[in-house]
Amino acid sequence: MLRSVMLAAARSGAMRRLVEANPLTRTVVDRFVAGSESGQAIGVTSRLAEEGLHVTLDHLGEDTTDAQQAEDTVRAYQGLLSELHAAGLAERAEVSVKLSAVGQQLSLDGEKIALDNARRICESAAAVGTTVTLDMEDHTTTDMTLRTLSDLRVDFPWVGAVLQAYLHRTEQDCRELATAGSRVRLCKGAYSEPSSVAFQDKQEVDRSYVRCMRALMAGEGYPMIATHDPRMIAIATELADRAGRSADSYEFQMLYGIRPAEQRRIAAAGHSLRVYVPYGEQWYGYFMRRLAERPANIGFFLRSLLTR
Ligand code: FAD
Repeated sequence: MLRSVMLAAARSGAMRRLVEANPLTRTVVDRFVAGSESGQAIGVTSRLAEEGLHVTLDHLGEDTTDAQQAEDTVRAYQGLLSELHAAGLAERAEVSVKLSAVGQQLSLDGEKIALDNARRICESAAAVGTTVTLDMEDHTTTDMTLRTLSDLRVDFPWVGAVLQAYLHRTEQDCRELATAGSRVRLCKGAYSEPSSVAFQDKQEVDRSYVRCMRALMAGEGYPMIATHDPRMIAIATELADRAGRSADSYEFQMLYGIRPAEQRRIAAAGHSLRVYVPYGEQWYGYFMRRLAERPANIGFFLRSLLTR
């Protein structure tokens, strides 16, 4: 219930203005977001890299409704990739891109514009020797995003995509994408979805997550296990062992600011651990989804607003 309210608020312009206007919100946002500038994101990346962690950087933004904003996002990614290269971090860090931030929702030719824009980001990533992963948004965009993935992979076979275990379709998508060279980030899913397309019960989502991991680990691709759930992490390790996978044939991923001690523990145990680091001004939608995932976060946030 609370989760649905928070996810609805994540899409509300009025709520957005209210939350953004509160100066104290920023202190809570800082727990999940590396900063508003690329330089801050590079600083965080450098610190995480020194600790033996890998990074994927997200220039925050989504649901872009004009072509200029989509163009600005492409330029921001291109600038970021140059900065990563200049800082010697391109081996440790890749980028994550939301297709809605590069034009997918534009009414005229949105899918094509997003493909062309994503292609430009891939070219810049290729030039500095790193990779791109396409984030997954709500279920109305899944087919479009997978089509774009398939088009991009013709020229850039290393482009990865996210699949969300809460969708009924995902086990099958995992089987189809578990092929050689394919990078799949498996997460539980962060949007409010109807029961016609998604499991609603946490245990059902977890069971689906295990089935999806089984398909990915048994396949020939590169599974990226994106979860903070200790049970899923233990099962992933067991499935990888059973499939005879070496430590460099899959990785774990977690979000910046969530279970940081566990991130370091997993890396110290010899696994590859990648931290998803978002930065930029447009933190609202991302931040609200993080609050929705955990009631304790909402309490923390509300207390900070009340103590202004
Ligand atoms: P849960 O069962 O939700 O949580 C397990 C435990 O993790 C909790 O008990 C708690 O201890 C901790 N935890 C989880 N979330 C939080 C939080 N917000 N604050 C504090 N503690 C927390 N979703 C998409 O829909 N599309 C994407 O493209 C996408 N990309 C992602 C990329 C990465 C690298 C990761 C890690 C997640 C991504 N997500 C994405 C979000 C994901 O779908 C989940 O909403 C989120 O990861 C929480 O699920 P969980 O697997 O951690 O399990």
